[in-house]
Amino acid sequence: MNHLYLKDEHEIFRSSLRRFLQKECVPYYDEWEENRIVPRSFWQKMGEQGFLCPDVDESYGGYGGDWGFSVIINEELERVGSSLVGIGLHNDIVIPYLTSYGTEEQKRKWLPSCVAGETITAIAMTEPGCGSDLANMQTTAILDGDHYLLNGQKTFITNGVHADLVIVACKTNPQAVPPHKGMSLLAVERNTPGFSRGRKLNKVGLHAQDTAELIFEDCRVPKENLLGEEGKGFTYLMEKLQQERLIVAIAAQVSAERMLEITMDYVKSRKAFGKAISKFQNTQFKLVEMATEIEMGRTFLDQLIAEHMEGKDIVAKVSMAKWKLTEMARDVATQCMQLHGGYGYMEEYEIARRYRDIPVASIYAGTNEIMKTIIAKNLGL
Ligand SMILES: Cc1cc2nc3c(=O)[nH]c(=O)nc-3n(C[C@H](O)[C@H](O)[C@H](O)COP(=O)(O)OP(=O)(O)OC[C@H]3O[C@@H](n4cnc5c(N)ncnc54)[C@H](O)[C@@H]3O)c2cc1C
Repeated sequence: MNHLYLKDEHEIFRSSLRRFLQKECVPYYDEWEENRIVPRSFWQKMGEQGFLCPDVDESYGGYGGDWGFSVIINEELERVGSSLVGIGLHNDIVIPYLTSYGTEEQKRKWLPSCVAGETITAIAMTEPGCGSDLANMQTTAILDGDHYLLNGQKTFITNGVHADLVIVACKTNPQAVPPHKGMSLLAVERNTPGFSRGRKLNKVGLHAQDTAELIFEDCRVPKENLLGEEGKGFTYLMEKLQQERLIVAIAAQVSAERMLEITMDYVKSRKAFGKAISKFQNTQFKLVEMATEIEMGRTFLDQLIAEHMEGKDIVAKVSMAKWKLTEMARDVATQCMQLHGGYGYMEEYEIARRYRDIPVASIYAGTNEIMKTIIAKNLGL
C-alpha cells in the first residue's frame, strides 16, 4: 500500500505490528471467535508494545504520533479480523473524548492505563428505544450534591463486557429545548455503585467482539467525572463522530481488499471442467469489477484520510465514504462467497466469517441512511 500520508517511520511501525499480530493474534483468532471474547491479556500485550492510543501525548504514556499510526493499527487489525474493532474504538473513538474534553486531572487519572491496555473503554449512546435519533435519549443524570444520579439503559455497546471506563451520553437537563441542548457526557468507572452489565449480546457476526447492555440504576457518578461542559454532549458527539465514521470506512475498505485477495488465490487453485475457475470469463469479469471498485475506494479513502489529518472539514465526504465503502464491501462479500462455491459457506473458509461480519458496518456509527441525510443537507437539499 502506498498511502499519501505515510512516511518510512509508519511503514516500519506497520511491519512490527504485523509481526506482533502474526505471533500474538492470528494463531488464536478462531479460538477467540468461538469463545466470543478477545482476552484482556491481548489488550495488555498491545499496550506493552505501544500499539494502543498512539496519538496520546508522551506526558500521559503515549508517544504523540500523528493519526497515520492509528490508520495503520486499524488496517492491520482488520486484515486479521473484524472482531478486533473494539480496539480501534478504544484508540480512535473513545480516547479522543478524554484528550479533547478531559481536564488535566481526568487525563492524568485515566489516560496512562488506557495506553497500557489495563483500562478498556467504551462509548454508550444507543438505548433500547433510540439509536439514530440520539437527541431523544431517555438516560438522565441529575445533580445530587457532589454526584450525578445516573438512570437509564444502554444497548449494543462495543467492549461492553470488558469496559472499565464508559463515556455515557445522558441528559443532565431533560427539560431542555431543543432536547439535544440538555445532553452531557459522563465518564463512568467500572465499580461505580448502581452500574451493572446486562446481557452480553449474541450477534450475527463479530463473534469475538464483546457487545453488551449497560444498566444504570441510581448510579452515583462523582461530579468531577463530567467531560467538558454540561449541555454540550451532543456537540461533542457530532464532532467526534466524523473520526468514528472514517474508522468504519477504513475497516470496510481493508475488508474488501482482503476478500479480493483470498478470492483471487482461491479461484486460481480451484478447478472445474478441466481448468482453474479463474479462467472462466464470468470469474474474471466479477473480479475485475470488484478490483475496480476497490481501487476507486482506496483512492477516495486515502485522500479523505489526508484531509482529515490536515484538519479539514470532512463531514460530507466522510459520510459518503462511510455509506459507499461499507456497501461496496458488502457486495464484495456476496460475490466472493459465490466464487468460493460451497466451500465459501463453510466456517473453515475466511470468506464465511467476512460475509457475516461486514453488514454491521452499514448500521453502526450512524446508519447508511443517516449518512445520506447528512449528505443531502450538505448538498443544500
Ligand atoms: C455490533 C454493534 C455495535 C455497536 N456499538 C455501539 C457502541 O459502541 N456504542 C453505541 O452507542 N452504539 C453502538 N451501536 C448502536 C448503533 O450505533 C445503532 O444500532 C445505530 O445507530 C442505529 O440505531 P438503531 O439500532 O436504534 O436503529 P434505528 O434508529 O431504529 O433505525 C432503524 C432503521 O430506520 C432507519 N432510519 C432511522 N431514522 C431515519 C431517518 N431519519 N431517515 C431514514 N431512515 C432512518 C435506519 O437507517 C435503520 O435502517 C452498535 C450497534 C451494533 C449492531
